[in-house]
Amino acid sequence: MTRLDTDAAVASEEPTPSDGPRMLLLESREVPLGGVRGMEVHRSLPQRDLPLVGAWCFLDRFGPQDTLMRVEPHPHIGLQTVTWPLVGEIYHRDSIGSDVVVSRGVVNLMTSGAGISHSEYSIGEGPIPLDALQLWIALPESRRHGEPAFERHEHLPIVTLPDAGGGRPAEAAVVMGEFAGAVSPATAYTPLVGAEIFLPAGSRVTLPLRPEWEYAVIGVEGEATVDAAASVDRGHLLYLGTGRDAIDVAVDEEATVFLLGGEPFEDDIVMWWNFVGRSHDEIVEAREEWEAESARFGRVPGHGAERVPAPPLPAVRLTRRRRRV
Ligand code: MN
Repeated sequence: MTRLDTDAAVASEEPTPSDGPRMLLLESREVPLGGVRGMEVHRSLPQRDLPLVGAWCFLDRFGPQDTLMRVEPHPHIGLQTVTWPLVGEIYHRDSIGSDVVVSRGVVNLMTSGAGISHSEYSIGEGPIPLDALQLWIALPESRRHGEPAFERHEHLPIVTLPDAGGGRPAEAAVVMGEFAGAVSPATAYTPLVGAEIFLPAGSRVTLPLRPEWEYAVIGVEGEATVDAAASVDRGHLLYLGTGRDAIDVAVDEEATVFLLGGEPFEDDIVMWWNFVGRSHDEIVEAREEWEAESARFGRVPGHGAERVPAPPLPAVRLTRRRRRV
């Protein structure tokens, strides 16, 4: 995805709060649609006071909806994009020659390194049912200046989580990183997890966590209760902080949640439009290079002159974001 909006960075004068457990329910928000009509997008991350969960820095849900998706070539730096379709298929092309269709159960992982460009279309010439999660992972210093890469994985490990009442177990698909001893084949550059968890009606399961990682639970379908304390649905992200070795998740009706987590990220980041960096000047340079059609971002085969122009920079200097919760 390309971001359809840009947000001015908020300077933080306050020190970062200490680590530890949290139980903080944050609302996802509808994204202003800008130039793209007919696409409904809700954003769970970043939040004003929560720029990152581990290395995860962005989470959009687009759909469910009938739409003709035409996201023309646009650039990324400093991140990995994770596309996880729920309904429908997405056609991905990029500047390193990838030309693939991604569908339910398959993870598309694009690593920008110092620069890549890509396009995303729905299949066919008319609106189709589409629903997907798009997530971004901030790359660490050791990888963010490197070469772009692309992976597609059809076979993800499934973890079975027993129901406390002896009923049908829940199942977790490990999309990225590591969960309960199972490791996704997708390449991660920092210790993290992204897992989709399906819970049958009436089930209650325990999710094993790592105390040194921070976590969040996002509602995908239905409603789930975490530690008998907070209820998560598709409109919410529940931030759990660090310092937990497990959580209990219980549902009345069947539900699907997405678990995000990871080692707290090494750096504060500057995020603007489709770029993740560490300073205002880096972002300005990337923007200028995209506008100048620099070789840094290559060309996406199969496209002519169509491309997404960079929005204007805000009048203020972009600053690094810090967690304030
Ligand atoms: Mn994109």
